[in-house]
Amino acid sequence: MPHGTAGGGEDGPVDCAEALSRLFEFLDQEVDESQGDRIRQHLADCEPCLAEYDVEDHLKKLIRRSCTEAAPSELHVRIRQQLTVLRTQVRER
Ligand SMILES: [Zn+2]
Repeated sequence: MPHGTAGGGEDGPVDCAEALSRLFEFLDQEVDESQGDRIRQHLADCEPCLAEYDVEDHLKKLIRRSCTEAAPSELHVRIRQQLTVLRTQVRER
């Protein structure tokens, strides 16, 4: 596992702006696995990011956007699980 060297690049850690901008896709599982891992890693590593985004707001938007293709309650549960995992990781550091 690479240890956070600041250098950028495709495989480097994502910064706050990128993590937040992709959070949406990440929660909706629209990013591929390696991207998702980088975002998850950043969020687990960066409490301000985790605290910053408005979970309920994202949930509402996601559910509104996805309600034609997925059962909202299912999506809701799925996202909550993701967030629970993230928060657990933060706490365990
Ligand atoms: Zn951050």
